[in-house]
Amino acid sequence: MSSLAMSGSSPTRNVAEKPWPSWPVFGDEERSNLLRVFDSGVWFRGDELTRFEQEYAAFQDARFGVSCTNGTAALEMALRALDIGPGHEVIVPAYTFVATAGAVLLCGARPVFADLDLNTYNLDPVDARNRITANTRALMPVHFAGLPCDMDAFRELADSHGLALIEDACHSWGSRWKGKGTGAIGDCGAFSFQMSKNITAGEGGILLTDDESLADRAWSYANCGRNRNGPWYEHHRVATNLRLTGLQAAILRAQLKRLGGQTDRRERNARYLDSRLERVPGIALPVRDERVTRRSYHLYMFRYLEGEWGAPRSAFLKALEAEGVPCSPGYPVPLYDNPLFESMGAGDSPACLNTEDLCRTAVWIQHALLLAETADMDDIADAVQKIWENRSELSAE
Ligand SMILES: *Cc1c(COP(=O)(O)O)cnc(C)c1O
Repeated sequence: MSSLAMSGSSPTRNVAEKPWPSWPVFGDEERSNLLRVFDSGVWFRGDELTRFEQEYAAFQDARFGVSCTNGTAALEMALRALDIGPGHEVIVPAYTFVATAGAVLLCGARPVFADLDLNTYNLDPVDARNRITANTRALMPVHFAGLPCDMDAFRELADSHGLALIEDACHSWGSRWKGKGTGAIGDCGAFSFQMSKNITAGEGGILLTDDESLADRAWSYANCGRNRNGPWYEHHRVATNLRLTGLQAAILRAQLKRLGGQTDRRERNARYLDSRLERVPGIALPVRDERVTRRSYHLYMFRYLEGEWGAPRSAFLKALEAEGVPCSPGYPVPLYDNPLFESMGAGDSPACLNTEDLCRTAVWIQHALLLAETADMDDIADAVQKIWENRSELSAE
């Protein structure tokens, strides 16, 4: 007799009857903003774009926002504005989306991969310190899944070595470290508004900073090398066009109004889920530093401790999915094991053992599930608990 849905018994949650919230969330606000800008005929630059930049910067406590086409472009703008290029190294985590290291390569500089802290899944400042060389110009930590990095440690490390501190904040819209918004703590921070992100216009990005001259240089790179207040046909640097459209800004302004409430809801649900999953011996949850005063959840993540379950993670993921909880293993390998980085000799540096561990053990649950009711979180926890109690069936698969 089998008990798990994977073997034919009824699932914890019947998703045909009780679907999870879908993403993106949008409605009349997005529609009317979009139509207003559409009807105005001002589809590029213009008030809507300026307002969005100001509103988003204010939401994260930054003085300046420079919008752009996507998060990768925002990271590249940051590096260009800081004059990082050939011969320079930038320290990045090995557990992140390709864009973090890819932006460094696009500027002709070299990404140097450092390991993560298994308590937070974020770049470990001690390992980052060990990988600093005479060529290092910047640190680029990622607030992974939305959990802020130890920004006190990174600020101290950057200052003591004369390095720039660029935040990849592409998971951390709304997150705060000691009350200050992420992306506005380092020298600058990059955000993405791509479709899967917690605020979206399909595509889009922004770079935030408190440094006006850095903002002006980033703006110039995204605007064909112009000076912000200079003549339209006067160009000062090798640059490109990375502008966001007014139509995207219209959608983003409506999305931004939803973001605070959604962030709080996800956080409330995630804390409830934590309180239930911390009782399951085979699950290790990340540790939240008390200096994290608000956190975004781009992902709800935990580590699957295979030894406790006596079955591989793939069997657990299959069982959880069958119980009606969509989930994934996340990145299969550290970034440096991708052909792109292998070919540039990233394998020279010591391996990142914690990153390799997380690639084998991580379980990802998408942020949209956390927008459901607190009672729906019980379905997730009940499913995990059910699989735990019947874990002997996993190895039979
Ligand atoms: C999504 C993402 C980016 C890049 O964003 P795009 O808008 O897709 O270019 C950068 N870093 C991280 C960690 C991301 O998840």
